[in-house]
Amino acid sequence: MKQVYHGIFLIEEKGIFRPSDNIFIIAGKDGIIFDAGYGNKRSVRQFLKKYKLIENHYKKQKIKFRITRIIVSHAHSDHFSGLNEISNALGLKIILTKNIADKIRDKISFNKSFQVNDYEDNLRLNKSVIRRIWRILRNWGEQTVYKRIFGISYLNKPDEIIEENSVIWINGEEWSIFASPGHSPDHISLYNEEKGVLFSGDNVLNMRSTWLGPPESNIDEYLATIQRFQKLPKLELILPAHGDIIENPKDTLTAILERMKEREDQIINMLKRHSEDGLSPEQLTKIIYPKERKFIRIIARDWIVLTLKKLEKEGSIERKIMRKKILFLPVEDKNE
Ligand SMILES: [Zn+2]
Repeated sequence: MKQVYHGIFLIEEKGIFRPSDNIFIIAGKDGIIFDAGYGNKRSVRQFLKKYKLIENHYKKQKIKFRITRIIVSHAHSDHFSGLNEISNALGLKIILTKNIADKIRDKISFNKSFQVNDYEDNLRLNKSVIRRIWRILRNWGEQTVYKRIFGISYLNKPDEIIEENSVIWINGEEWSIFASPGHSPDHISLYNEEKGVLFSGDNVLNMRSTWLGPPESNIDEYLATIQRFQKLPKLELILPAHGDIIENPKDTLTAILERMKEREDQIINMLKRHSEDGLSPEQLTKIIYPKERKFIRIIARDWIVLTLKKLEKEGSIERKIMRKKILFLPVEDKNE
């Protein structure tokens, strides 16, 4: 654990076969825990051990340390699975927004939010038997990963539902909670203007792009969220859900927007270059990432599909179906 700002501690849950996770403690006499990390025994034990160190740190100085609540940034299993165990161990009240609470209520509500809709599914046409079997196996694999590695644990009723855009009092100070969709539709952020500290969850990470993919993410919403972060008065420090803290928020946010624009231009240019035949998401992925490993390509395909979705909605590209394949073409500009 380390103190990343006066009175704010970062506990990192190290992962094997999974990304490490950040959980933050806003210490004080009426403090809060932001995000709950994984729910498997090992992670929770690791967390509680580090939590004790913070508690002792205050005890030694004879400063009152009392954490009363826990809240999560969004309904992804690497951030909410520890809710039950941690709140039980420390006697905390669980506070969630309605969107998050509805999603993590049980296995059915959680899985429903990840069902690919027709639109995205059509991008994967080719519904052969092998493909279907592969999908069943993959679902089974995902469930196993959720259970074993993430230690997923659902929650049928939080102690308190909080509005998505509201304020919360932490140690007598006012923090604002606001909706920040993009990476996931239920995502919220926490900000204190006086400190200039923003808890960004998975929307802003240091050094790398966050995952954006169907069916959950939305690029337009994501861009609006990043722009909203840019407008936060006096923003000094971003505390993300994975990796290092961000001490140069302005540069980081500008870089994200530039990278998103570059990616979009890259896709438009590729489609223009192949405007005779059009390109499928798979072909685009291969052209843009010719040498990357399969895993990287699967992740890359996700943002490519999302970008195609955005461009199609804006009317700058269109699809045609040829030989059971969906191909995308630029829409000719009539003014040219
Ligand atoms: Zn996430």
